[in-house]
Amino acid sequence: MGAVGRDPVFLESGEGPYIVDVDGNRYVDYVSSWGPLILGHAHPAVVAAVTSAAARGTSYGAPTEAEVQLAAEVVERVPGAEMVRLVSSGTEASMTAVRLARAVTGRDKIVKFAGAYHGHVDGLLADAGSGLATHGIPASPGVTRAQAGDTIVVPWNDFDRFGAALDDVGGDVAAILAEPLPANMGLVPPVDGFLELLRSGADRTGALLVLDEVISGFRVAGGGAQELLGVRGDLIVLGKVLGGGLPLAAVAGPRALMEQLAPAGDTYQAGTLSGNPLATAAGLATLARLDAAAYDGLESTTARLGQGLASAAQAAGVTVQVPYVCGLLSVFFASAPVRDYDGARAADSAAFGRFHGAMLKRGIYLPPSPFEAWFPSLVHGPPEIEATLGAAAEAFEEVAR
Ligand code: PMP
Repeated sequence: MGAVGRDPVFLESGEGPYIVDVDGNRYVDYVSSWGPLILGHAHPAVVAAVTSAAARGTSYGAPTEAEVQLAAEVVERVPGAEMVRLVSSGTEASMTAVRLARAVTGRDKIVKFAGAYHGHVDGLLADAGSGLATHGIPASPGVTRAQAGDTIVVPWNDFDRFGAALDDVGGDVAAILAEPLPANMGLVPPVDGFLELLRSGADRTGALLVLDEVISGFRVAGGGAQELLGVRGDLIVLGKVLGGGLPLAAVAGPRALMEQLAPAGDTYQAGTLSGNPLATAAGLATLARLDAAAYDGLESTTARLGQGLASAAQAAGVTVQVPYVCGLLSVFFASAPVRDYDGARAADSAAFGRFHGAMLKRGIYLPPSPFEAWFPSLVHGPPEIEATLGAAAEAFEEVAR
């Protein structure tokens, strides 16, 4: 909330698309715990599954059927997933994918994109310096130059800079790591041909294409951005929706790669609470409700919301960009479509802050930063969308004044 200049709202409960704060105010929630809650808050099936699992023990440190069932769901839905390693957070999952990519290629460098977030892995907290293939400089105190120095940061959607980076250091690159639908600088979809360029760049250099679908996985389509956009990664990083609101994430990929992970292979990875029975129960209950009809509904909800926001802004004389895909949306106060992190940073964040405050006082809880995506869910129905658009019409008027 610091980003929009106000104090945090302390929450007491959530139900469906609504959250209630400690003072009893109710809001339509578009944060959805930053993505996991595609079924809304406290979905009865998830609560029942978690409650029943908890009664049988919260963690064993030994295999369970639910782990295998959840992995099987991933294999069925996610293109290229033959084996799955469950972990407890997206950070761990991307860290594991990077370690595995380094192990199988015998190379050190990682290419990532400016404005993309892959969790708080030391080496991935790197900002671009200047120059063509910019070697990362630490983006946080506590990250060493050596850790950040193996990360090459390239602007998203920049064909030339990506090509130049690979020409420069391609033979040393273990992984090209990308959010296929970047949603941590606001939603900034790939322009036509960019994901294909990442795929061919990986093939040309022998690097692995690691797709971080922590946000897009099970949200934009059953098979995530790979299915929606037709791209194929070598390793897929999953989280959020997969754990149904409990701590769970995963790395998935072809058997030949995944078998390099311990204990089958020698690339170390472990976790005390990995695949714990509460998280797998929540994940299974969530995935069970994500069929084709669910995605059709979520897609039309998001379209109605996105188009409605754009027309409400236009009616108020405010220029915004509202990129959206099924289940994901963001609002940039900008006069042209945002293509990259520089574009996202150039958008008017003060106007976003005023809009955020105007929505909050009308009972609509938006992500408190223009760099975070909105997460509509399956339980955001017409009443919530119309309430949101009604509030937005007034909020844009307020921003215009
Ligand atoms: N990757 C992406 C694309 C994310 O959005 C996030 C979290 N927002 C992460 C990784 C890290 O996940 P976690 O917060 O579970 O560590």
